[in-house]
Amino acid sequence: MAELIRNYVGGQWVGAQDGATFETFNPATEAVIAPAAKSSADDVKAAVAAAKTAYADWRLMPAPRRGEILYQVARLLEERKEHLSRVMTQEMGKVLSEARGDVQEAIDMAYYMGGEGRRLQGYTAPVEMPDKFGMALRDSVGVIGLITPWNFPTAVPSWKMLPALVAGNTIVFKPSEEVPCVSAEFVRVFEDAGLPPGVLNIVQGAGDAGAALVSEPDVRVISFTGSNETGLKVYAQAAALGKKVSLEMGGKNAIIVMDDANLDLAIQAITWSAYGTTGQRCTATSRLIVHRDIKPKLVEALVEQARQLKVGDGLDEAVEVGPLVNQKALDKVERYIEIGKQEGAQIVVGGGRPDFDKGFYYLPTLFADVSPEMRIAREEIFGPVLSMIEVGSLEEAVEVNNSVVYGLSSSIFTENVNAAFRAIRDLTTGIVYINHGTTGAEIHFPFGGTRGTGNGMREAGQAGLDAFTEWKAVYVDYSGRLQRAQIDNR
Ligand code: ADP
Repeated sequence: MAELIRNYVGGQWVGAQDGATFETFNPATEAVIAPAAKSSADDVKAAVAAAKTAYADWRLMPAPRRGEILYQVARLLEERKEHLSRVMTQEMGKVLSEARGDVQEAIDMAYYMGGEGRRLQGYTAPVEMPDKFGMALRDSVGVIGLITPWNFPTAVPSWKMLPALVAGNTIVFKPSEEVPCVSAEFVRVFEDAGLPPGVLNIVQGAGDAGAALVSEPDVRVISFTGSNETGLKVYAQAAALGKKVSLEMGGKNAIIVMDDANLDLAIQAITWSAYGTTGQRCTATSRLIVHRDIKPKLVEALVEQARQLKVGDGLDEAVEVGPLVNQKALDKVERYIEIGKQEGAQIVVGGGRPDFDKGFYYLPTLFADVSPEMRIAREEIFGPVLSMIEVGSLEEAVEVNNSVVYGLSSSIFTENVNAAFRAIRDLTTGIVYINHGTTGAEIHFPFGGTRGTGNGMREAGQAGLDAFTEWKAVYVDYSGRLQRAQIDNR
């Protein structure tokens, strides 16, 4: 049996205090990879205490120096990119090229937030009295709790850790129980980059460890990415304790294809956005809103593309679509296929599993004859299943796009600049693409969604600092005398 994957608490790699473990496995082969520490509330408490102790010094380290440590994180991630990518593919199934992209996002974020060490900009503005100075500073908050999913095991934690660290906070990180191995390897990079003990701690384990983290009094901010069901639980639990929460949850992202679209571009984009990462991205395209005049040609080409995609173990460089993450995810996809059929939608390609002995595989699937009210057009399936809805105009396409509870990303393919700008104005998602799939956000722009996708917070870019900083307004009176405004009781 492989060595235990441990927690990292106060600079020490340790097992759970009660010795509990769980197993992580490879979704392509169903083989067990290693046991991991199954953290209890006591383990979480110890990690929070370590983070609280470390905060006293970390917040006082000059931010440019904190940024230099993040640059070193970036360099080590570059060196270990291939290793991390392989560990990731083995543990959660996405194909190697996508795993490399995942690590690359963490590298980009480490350089970007490393640079924030020399910015972290606040502002000054004129004040009402003579001989007085006013400024607004971004201040650190304290101990931050991070709860993350399995689908982007290094990218998503990096969007949270790197801004939190550069701003002077310390962290307790609870990754998904599906990815303890790659998460531990990721944290090791920070250790090796010279991050002081206790500044970043990891507790492995399941939802109960996440809930324990939310309830810890010294954790002031929770940044969560995952399902709506869990996110709303976390939000309610944290709200009752008066904590700040950043939520990033589901999507039901659509690509709109107008009758004047460049079809070659659209087909490529749809294929990769719908079936890349086996449809398990929060920004994956799961609805195709197509103008009826172009539908027959589009369907023909898409079916051809979907059939050609090579499904298999992501470690094989020729494979384009890996397995789903686990049996539960596969069961969910199969359930939605039945729901779609019962609702009257037609499967035009896929709709079943490939004939493999092991692994949680499902074929890239396209449903036609989908109406916007059907569950397969409204609910997140999180698999390689695309639901196609026909429309007759831009207005109808926009209305269908905006009709779901989620608001993460949307896209339109059109060669008409007027239609493109109307779409930018009217699509109510947090991310909008023109002539591009619904995936491929860059780390220096705000990432996040409207409505049911989140709670108004954003990750990445300058906005990504907001969750992990408090504004401090500072007034300096250098007049040396009593001024009228002080008497006015402002
Ligand atoms: P997914 O299964 O799609 O990753 P989840 O929302 O179930 O989505 O999980 C996201 C993260 O939330 C994981 O790290 C998981 O362990 C954690 N989690 C699950 N339940 C809870 C909970 N009640 N409180 C806090 N965290 C939780």
